[in-house]
Amino acid sequence: MVTGGSGFIGTHTCLELINAGVNVSIIDNFSNSVGESLERIERLSGKKVSFYEVDIRNKNSLQEVFKASDFSAVIHFAGLKAVGESVSYPVRYYQNNVLGTLNLLDVMSQYNVRKLVFSSSATVYGDPETLPIKEFFPRSATNPYGQSKLMVEHILEDLAKADPEWKIACLRYFNPVGAHSSGMIGEDPQDIPNNLMPYISQVAVGKREKLSIFGNDYPTVDGTGVRDYIHVTDLAKGHLAALNYLYSEQAESFSPFNLGRGQGISVLQLVNAFEKASGRKIPYEVVNRRPGDIAACYADAQRAKQLLGWKAHLGVEDMCKDAWRWQEMNPTGYK
Ligand code: NAD
Ligand code: UDP
Repeated sequence: MVTGGSGFIGTHTCLELINAGVNVSIIDNFSNSVGESLERIERLSGKKVSFYEVDIRNKNSLQEVFKASDFSAVIHFAGLKAVGESVSYPVRYYQNNVLGTLNLLDVMSQYNVRKLVFSSSATVYGDPETLPIKEFFPRSATNPYGQSKLMVEHILEDLAKADPEWKIACLRYFNPVGAHSSGMIGEDPQDIPNNLMPYISQVAVGKREKLSIFGNDYPTVDGTGVRDYIHVTDLAKGHLAALNYLYSEQAESFSPFNLGRGQGISVLQLVNAFEKASGRKIPYEVVNRRPGDIAACYADAQRAKQLLGWKAHLGVEDMCKDAWRWQEMNPTGYK
């Protein structure tokens, strides 16, 4: 069972799972995605997916789905993810991300499903004192979105302690970007993009006039913010590796993993790489820092390599080429 399977990371993960022979069912309420993404998964894989239009805040509907099926594990993507919006509408974020997850855990227990892969985020590390970030670093949150992820992490840890039958992989994503190499599935922001890569792509395709770079006075290589960008296909494969781990003998009840490449890339470096990959100029202006942003963030991804046998293979060039192919083939997203 994949919750949030018609979203950006969900679609790519479902495709990898189906291609690996996993029998996948999807739950989504389409609050940030559209049905066309599921049709694309079917076209790419040549397989039908079973889909349930369900809101995870609705426990009765979740129970109906579980009652009618025989799931062995859940990958849980469903949730809201816009930091700025979470500051304006905190209750909405806690309801979707925390209450929704509590419902899911309850229904999983009820139907004896105790394997879970959870979508967490590097945001739970707050502003780290040193880099690269390791899994045991202290955690903190600076906004309701991050807080909701941290709360769920604590809930999952408590659950795993109370009942070691649970096997939970908590995946902390760094910065997922790019798109499937076919150009058929990709990131489809419903509004003005908050994240850097989709913003750059929309400037390249002429949908936005120019990029605003949020600050060039950070203590980084060129003054702009540094992040650990990871290709969404690599990330999707990380979920398959995590799922396999949960079925293995050595699986711990709660296991956190950084999914990143371990390489910091600045905003300007990403802009340059995108210009090269697309052959388009990306006009930009430097504006004030975005409140709450940190200077730099990148992963130590050794734990995932050792325990999951997973590492990212695709580089910045692939990320930009694939993001551009998706944007060029689908200038208005799935619509
Ligand atoms: P997305 O918005 O594209 O996908 C999330 C999906 O969940 C959407 O299809 C949405 O319609 C669905 N959804 C939301 N609330 C729901 C609800 N109450 N019931 C049912 N479905 C619901 O986001 P994404 O980028 O694919 O992210 C997936 C997960 O990974 C999220 O939990 C997000 O917080 C986490 N994450 C994302 C990033 C990132 O940069 N994209 C980074 C770190 C963590
Ligand atoms: N950024 C930017 N302009 C934008 C969006 C983002 O300069 O329009 C910068 C941002 O300050 C950060 C980096 O790009 O340094 C990545 O931002 P994003 O929102 O994609 O990811 P996050 O901040 O959540 O890591």
